[in-house]
Amino acid sequence: SSPRQFFVGGNFKMNGDISSIKSIVTHLNDAKTDSNTEVVIAPPALYLLLTREHLRSGIEVAAQNVFDKPNGAFTGEISVAQLKDSNITWTLLGHSERRVVLQETDEFVARKTKTAIDGGIGVILCCGETLEQREADKTIEVVTSQLSAVAKTVQDWSKIVVAYEPIWAIGTGKVASTQQAQEVHKAIREWIGKELGEEAAKKTRVIYGGSVSEKNCKELAKEEDIDGFLVGGASLKPAFVDIINAKA
Ligand code: PEP
Repeated sequence: SSPRQFFVGGNFKMNGDISSIKSIVTHLNDAKTDSNTEVVIAPPALYLLLTREHLRSGIEVAAQNVFDKPNGAFTGEISVAQLKDSNITWTLLGHSERRVVLQETDEFVARKTKTAIDGGIGVILCCGETLEQREADKTIEVVTSQLSAVAKTVQDWSKIVVAYEPIWAIGTGKVASTQQAQEVHKAIREWIGKELGEEAAKKTRVIYGGSVSEKNCKELAKEEDIDGFLVGGASLKPAFVDIINAKA
């Protein structure tokens, strides 16, 4: 069996309202979830406190983003200290929607990752290639260079979970094949070994994201280097529980 605890994250993106988020939380509270799986959900910032207040212990809450400064004149941003103050113990960073739509650079993502890790919260660090990059055989190069920016400033990856999310598979219903995913996950693990050492390679969770559903999760979960999932659309549905239980 794997030395790594299976990890399933739910990314609500800019979806939901008080009522729907409360009902997702109630559903999770009542569900039988595999106690061997670590579960973290990421609602929109406005609903972080509400989620934390209603969600049972044993499931953690993540922000979808955090800023790299401790406080001050940064209108619209949220700090690591503010997350910690609200019992929000994780954040997503480097999601492709932020890289593409909000034009975040590898270096900015790296700075924010360092701030989060130094501040004591976990980071679900997203990476992934476009269809054009995959077709040009650049997948491994793109993904490892996104991760390299972080490795330059963060040496301790014990609180980083890497989420490999091919952009062409996000929200498209087009899931990577188990083989395609496993190949990239293995390459990421080899890269971690080379850059950060064998211990880090053995322990770092590398999770897959991109149209994960209750239908495809079990096959993907069998692969040696797939340590869980980051789930978008399906995390808003009752079937999210089946994905949490993919290994059960
Ligand atoms: C995501 O947003 O991280 C994601 C993987 O979305 P979806 O599952 O909807 O493809």
